[in-house]
Amino acid sequence: MVGLSPISALPPSGQRAVARCDLLGRAPYSDDTDGLFRPYLGAGYRATLDRIAGWMDEAGMSVRVDAVGNVVGRYEGTVPDAPSLLIGSHVDSVRNGGRYDGMLGVILGVEVVAGFARAGRRFPFAIEVIGFGDEEGSRFPAAMLTSRTVAGVRDGFDLSMADRDGVTLAEALAEFGLDLAGIDEARIAPDRVLAYVEAHIEQGPVLEAEGRAVGVVSAIAAQHRYRVTMQGMAGHAGTIAMHLRRDALAAAAEAIGTVERVGNAGPADLVATVGRLEVQPGAANVVPGDVMFTIDVRAGTNAVRDAAARAIIDDIRQIAARRDIILDVTLQQDLDATPCDPRLTVLMEQAVADVTGTPARVLVSGAGHDAMVMAHRVPVSMLFIRCEKGISHNPAEAVTAADVEVALRALTDFVCLFERRS
Ligand SMILES: [Zn+2]
Repeated sequence: MVGLSPISALPPSGQRAVARCDLLGRAPYSDDTDGLFRPYLGAGYRATLDRIAGWMDEAGMSVRVDAVGNVVGRYEGTVPDAPSLLIGSHVDSVRNGGRYDGMLGVILGVEVVAGFARAGRRFPFAIEVIGFGDEEGSRFPAAMLTSRTVAGVRDGFDLSMADRDGVTLAEALAEFGLDLAGIDEARIAPDRVLAYVEAHIEQGPVLEAEGRAVGVVSAIAAQHRYRVTMQGMAGHAGTIAMHLRRDALAAAAEAIGTVERVGNAGPADLVATVGRLEVQPGAANVVPGDVMFTIDVRAGTNAVRDAAARAIIDDIRQIAARRDIILDVTLQQDLDATPCDPRLTVLMEQAVADVTGTPARVLVSGAGHDAMVMAHRVPVSMLFIRCEKGISHNPAEAVTAADVEVALRALTDFVCLFERRS
């Protein structure tokens, strides 16, 4: 007779959810002995799936692993084979990652169901909890591979792409014991899944700054990424008079100031960043002749992003013209905003207000999530959980059990509100 592990002997709670994430944050659930690295389909990934499957089973769910290695637990409704409400996030991590990014959303799904199972509560729909295998793209050169498969958004899902050891995605799936022929069956039918709900750490500092445990996501930000080159004329820093210079870096500095100014002038969900800058020839005694930098612009709507990007680029063109600099601006990434389902957002706001006693804070997610992909197929809703200093993708990532308890209660309430609505 095998007894319950100490964690499983606890009732479902925020504290238990945190303890479970902490347990999964080290070997054998990590491929690194110090710190957490759980790439898709690795050894730590397999151990993690087994452990989560055990917890799903304890919570009264039937468990399967789909054709791309997502773990799915199903808690039946009052009617057999009813369509489901899907709750989840991702189980993979970046190298030297944090213990709660993704995993907390999966474990919270299990805790929500465990609570209903203990209370003997069933719904006219099933509840399915999904742990997506790949969101981070930390093994293969593409991200959100497994939610793409589930949502039927197959661009970027290339079985021949290889990890850095030369193992192809097809080989990795086969090695894991998955049946490539079943990949199409991993795709959900929209009439079988009513909605997708994802809880995730905020990965930003807003909730902490405002003293809130949780927040409701209204949209995942639209993004534009540009590569800008400025070409002037390199020359001797000692001999070329100031008024004769075509200094590419001085022009870029002015441009970077513009990026920040436009970002500051917009609504709170607008952010604009220059994250990379390369200077040629890069010597102390040479006037810089060539500069390359990136611009990343994000906002909750395409319209706000587009207006900001236009303002930035118009200004940079004027700077270049005035300074006799040859300018090239290339749009490298163009992602539309993903609005969360407005009706579900209202329900989530209601759930948060019920639990916290104050109106919910609604915010835009600047980072991408599986919900962004799932929104192609089903209505989505997202709940953010405060994390310490907004730190993520880092071993210092931290949440409090009290905040996670608030999230657990809000998600539980959301499911009940969802039943009343449907
Ligand atoms: Zn994540």
